[in-house]
Amino acid sequence: MSQPPEIQINPEIHPKNGLHLPALDLWLDAPRAKPFSFISHAHSDHVARHQQILCCPVTAHLLQRRYRIARDRLTIQHFHESVTWNEHSITLLPAGHIPGSAMLHVRNLHSQASLLYTGDYKLRPSRAAEPASWLQADTLVMESTFGLPHYVLPSAAEIEQSILRFIHESIADHATPILLGYSLGKAQEIAAILTAHNLPFVSSKTVCEMTQACREAGCHLPAPILWDGDIPAGTTLIAPPQILKQAQYFQIPNPRTCMMTGWAINPSAKFRYGTHAAIPLSDHADFPDLLHTVEIVKPKKIITIHGSTRELASSLRQRGYNAWSHYGNDQLELPFL
Ligand SMILES: [Zn+2]
Repeated sequence: MSQPPEIQINPEIHPKNGLHLPALDLWLDAPRAKPFSFISHAHSDHVARHQQILCCPVTAHLLQRRYRIARDRLTIQHFHESVTWNEHSITLLPAGHIPGSAMLHVRNLHSQASLLYTGDYKLRPSRAAEPASWLQADTLVMESTFGLPHYVLPSAAEIEQSILRFIHESIADHATPILLGYSLGKAQEIAAILTAHNLPFVSSKTVCEMTQACREAGCHLPAPILWDGDIPAGTTLIAPPQILKQAQYFQIPNPRTCMMTGWAINPSAKFRYGTHAAIPLSDHADFPDLLHTVEIVKPKKIITIHGSTRELASSLRQRGYNAWSHYGNDQLELPFL
């Protein structure tokens, strides 16, 4: 007797519109407005003005505050809560990327076939984002930002030591330490690190706004202090990278800048960003953590999205997994003869 065909939840892949789950008529982080889409988190490259949006409560609050999206467009679901519709169980899981970042887990209640969509995620501990948690899935749709084998980030403890060293050396040199990171996510992680080490800091206007929005949504972050032009001695400024082009920046006495990005593992990063230093504080999984994710989820099929998709899929195939890039054109791999 032949085996019945294996049933999987297969997303439709649209090169310019992202992924779509036909059984639920649900898009996943669609870049253009759709009737109904899951938004994994409130970074702008994952947000569009859909008619209806599935998201978690923190992201719902950030979408309203940052993008003025109306409350009646939001279908809000708490982490770990399962909701049934169209004969599927839908669960949101924390992704560890930024406050409110979520993964989407879908299970067909008849076939038990399952899919996990990670969005942007991180495995290593975060001080500001909810820690990632996992469910097994037959199909794993995973991000690939650091999908090349040499993208191995230092430990969280080593990165925090680098930040403390940068601040202490700047202050010892009578310079003003400035830590640069995106206003939502990275800036709150930096704020939480400095708070944990009892280091005083002020924040730019956009960082203050996003930190306040996260606090309103229930995130445990200190009340931000607005940078009003003066930076007291011994105090660090947290600001987005755009500050380097603004007039206010040029009034800071003896500024010493440090870009906070996972791309700082490239030695040339500080030259690329035009900063005095760069520290690889990332909100994405590095290559070893991408591989570890696959071991946790135990999928039968993997679709790689965002970043080094073909390279990560190739690395996974070499390890025996059925992995393919979202963008297609995976190179045919022939053994050397
Ligand atoms: Zn993101």
